[in-house]
Amino acid sequence: MAAILGGGLGGLSTGYYLLKNNVCNNNNVKLFLLEATNQCGGWVKTIRTKDYLFEQGPRTIRPKGMPGLNTLNMMQDLGLSEHIAPIRSDHPAAKNRMIYVNNTLHMLPSSFRGIFQRNEPFSKPLIYAAFNDWKQPQKEMKDDSIYNFVERRFGKELADYAISPMICGICAGDAKEISVKFLMKTLFEHEQNHGGVMKGLLKSMFTGNLTEELELTELAKSAKEEKWSVYTIKGGLETFPLTLKNYLTDNNVAMHFNTSVKEIEFIDSSVVNLKKDNGEVLTANHIYSTVPAHVLARLVEKQHPKLSTYLNEIPFVTVGIVNLYFDTDKSLITPAFGFLVPPIENRSILGVVFDSCCIPDQKGTVLTVMLGGRWFHEKFGENPAESKLLEVALREIKAILKIDEKPTAYNVSILKRCIPQYVVGHYDRVDSIREYIENNNLPISLVGSSYDGVGVNDVIFSAKTQVGEVCTT
Ligand SMILES: Cc1cc2nc3c(=O)[nH]c(=O)nc-3n(C[C@H](O)[C@H](O)[C@H](O)COP(=O)(O)OP(=O)(O)OC[C@H]3O[C@@H](n4cnc5c(N)ncnc54)[C@H](O)[C@@H]3O)c2cc1C
Repeated sequence: MAAILGGGLGGLSTGYYLLKNNVCNNNNVKLFLLEATNQCGGWVKTIRTKDYLFEQGPRTIRPKGMPGLNTLNMMQDLGLSEHIAPIRSDHPAAKNRMIYVNNTLHMLPSSFRGIFQRNEPFSKPLIYAAFNDWKQPQKEMKDDSIYNFVERRFGKELADYAISPMICGICAGDAKEISVKFLMKTLFEHEQNHGGVMKGLLKSMFTGNLTEELELTELAKSAKEEKWSVYTIKGGLETFPLTLKNYLTDNNVAMHFNTSVKEIEFIDSSVVNLKKDNGEVLTANHIYSTVPAHVLARLVEKQHPKLSTYLNEIPFVTVGIVNLYFDTDKSLITPAFGFLVPPIENRSILGVVFDSCCIPDQKGTVLTVMLGGRWFHEKFGENPAESKLLEVALREIKAILKIDEKPTAYNVSILKRCIPQYVVGHYDRVDSIREYIENNNLPISLVGSSYDGVGVNDVIFSAKTQVGEVCTT
């Protein structure tokens, strides 16, 4: 009997890979999934009407790299190929990404030629950053913040205007706290092993890269050949967890909704009790925990306070999401993915996504304003009213995009502690957590955005890896 804790994308894909590994069928193992709310999907939530679509959580998925291609393989297997809406590299949403600096929107360079030209707000062409890296001495370190690394190797402007807003866009975090390994592990290794990023890149051109093989489905091949930048799902991303949920139910996985687990009690290396909030106890031989680290910390605290402390050391941030729909004949925005605001600008928003440009089949103008993140409490206090966030979002799009209209429809959500922060030392911390589990023979695997990557692809790939590890032992 195996239990999956949490029905977000991490939990659902764990179920998918357990079924694919024939855990349920061949070994006669029964599988059940426990989800605290009345639905699956976790942070993936879509509000859909005939005119517009509001994504409250993720909206686009990257098709690149092993984890990206792996997700596409899963999508095809689930029969979702026809529902995929790719954004190819020549689409305005792929080419046009902006930052808001000094009261102006600036387009970031999107072509090779662009790095030889001077683009505001940078004072020199970006190619100068490569010269800077060449000249800088190596600094031996185990880990560093991504801001420090980029500032040291490529200069302060790149750290302030490129990396800091990018980190806001990916994890709503502060680049001065986030580990360089979160996004630039290979570049950091080049510095540590070869004395500089450019030197390391040159060496790797001669040594070649060993990449693991992954058999590609037709969908993944199309994404590679047609150079997709990102993709989304027609009708909203929520279709993805719904399809996964149906796949699990069709394959006899027992789904327990409205079932919040309140405590985990390990009996021995192959028996574990899950205590529900109504006092009932379920027993399993192995647990795949996909709930956020701070939730798991609470569940194991009584028996394993040290493990709980490690888990609680992974910080999370709260994000405010304001979706806006303007029923206009003419679009109120220029075609682009949207813009990000570098933290150095000290404004109340992290950025705005131009959904009517990125998501197909929408009427009028649809925008999503993201607020807070690492600075949520500083800007809005502990428990701000949703009306406060709406007011700030409307004020900011009036100032920046000159949109004066009242939205025809809107939705405000405050997503409490929704994104884990991979701060400096994160990867050692996760190793210590897994080491503790192994040393104490605890029958639990850790999946989900708290450990091995914060994006949709990472969560799915981590489910595949963790299931694979248990199945081969
Ligand atoms: C605002 C936002 C925007 C994002 N945008 C993107 C994007 O554009 N592209 C991208 O790739 N990624 C994006 N992400 C990241 C992506 O959404 C996450 O990686 C992914 O959804 C995490 O899935 P998960 O299963 O790990 O966690 P969750 O979605 O948190 O799922 C955990 C589940 O566990 C349940 N649970 C919690 N406690 C208990 C309990 N005690 N008992 C039982 N069940 C419990 C919860 O109800 C939840 O359903 C975004 C995330 C956010 C918040």
